[in-house]
Amino acid sequence: MKSKVYFFTARTLSKEESMSMVKGPLSLEKLGFEEKVRQKDKVVIKTHFGALENVRHLRPSYIRFLCDYIKSVGAIPSVAESCGWGAPEEITGIHTEYSGRATEKEYLEVALKHGYTKETMGAEILMLDGPDGTDFEIQKIEGKRFQEVLVAGRLREFDHLILASHFKGHVGAGFGGAIKNLGIGCVAKGGKVQAHLGKKFEYVLKNCAPECDKCIKACPRGALRKDNDNNLIKNWELCGYCYVCRSVCKNGVIVTDTITNEEFLLQMVDNARGVVDYFGRDRIFYINYAIDITWQCDCTGGSDTPFIPDIGILSSLDPVALDQACIDLAHSSYMNPYSILGGIDKLSLEEKKPWFSFTPRFDPNTGEYDLNKEGKVFRNWEFQLQAAEEMGLGSRNYSLIEVQINKQK
Ligand code: SF4
Ligand code: SF4
Repeated sequence: MKSKVYFFTARTLSKEESMSMVKGPLSLEKLGFEEKVRQKDKVVIKTHFGALENVRHLRPSYIRFLCDYIKSVGAIPSVAESCGWGAPEEITGIHTEYSGRATEKEYLEVALKHGYTKETMGAEILMLDGPDGTDFEIQKIEGKRFQEVLVAGRLREFDHLILASHFKGHVGAGFGGAIKNLGIGCVAKGGKVQAHLGKKFEYVLKNCAPECDKCIKACPRGALRKDNDNNLIKNWELCGYCYVCRSVCKNGVIVTDTITNEEFLLQMVDNARGVVDYFGRDRIFYINYAIDITWQCDCTGGSDTPFIPDIGILSSLDPVALDQACIDLAHSSYMNPYSILGGIDKLSLEEKKPWFSFTPRFDPNTGEYDLNKEGKVFRNWEFQLQAAEEMGLGSRNYSLIEVQINKQK
């Protein structure tokens, strides 16, 4: 059977068609939200507050009006993110585009600058993996790469989960939508690292400098110490898998895997399956905001010109169908010739379709972004969807139901 995907166009001619006040809440209502949610149920909205320099992440009012809608049906909303990987800036002293989000304290400062506060949301704001990213639950799965997933621990506190995702490009995943918000956004800090680097986590102690104690000071769990002979000792029982020790060590003591783009995607999808299995398929609602569609993710400082026009809001109970529908609408759209895709002058306009095959990607071989001036084909977007369907997260087969606001009024 085809999965239902509801579609609300971004075209907005009047306040009755508002994307934030009307279409967002209605996209939830169409999913049977009011039948499934009881009075006083705790509902957490997982979204992305954006890296400090990013300006294409979702505007706070989209989420605020979801919170108001949740309250209007008698439930209690919260707004959540999860800690980014890496060490906090107060330890490293360095700001990078990925830092500033390593802990709850840091990330809430970024959130404040982007307009996400308890006051603007009218709801609690929290990190799903706790103040330092080490709050997790282990979910066993039969994945393509993983048998265990580090699910963000504070999900345990909620009755329902709304994935309010910004649909856009992503240099590793091909695109970011509902599947990525599950597999990266709803796992603990360690789950993010493991998606990107695999499960290998070893200490090559012969490389450890006797006089150094950087990782010991940085470890939030007190899992590291040195003995009287200056040998590093790790207590694995105490470890919270934040990988901060790896981030601060410059001596190559802590070793993880090197993986391909495809392996990253399989690991991300395994994580997503772990989150769904842990939380419960019937308790998750998915909304994709297909607007401001850049080739970069909200987790980067880059906010390039969108390469296609705004599409709208889509919602579904099936994350794979939802992401597939967004991809299909994007590929049937016009390309902005002044965007990065317009710069591939070796190909004709027709040859540049489907657009997501030509957005830049991260090249694991060089460790650099491949800005793809040559017009190389990267079908990571398709690989992600195929893997997610194979992992039982949902179906790529869907029926698109366009909701006309004016006709309903
Ligand atoms: S940061 Fe690296 S070199 Fe320093 S104590 Fe830790 S493992 Fe050893
Ligand atoms: S040992 Fe490393 S990974 Fe484990 S809690 Fe400490 S800093 Fe985090």
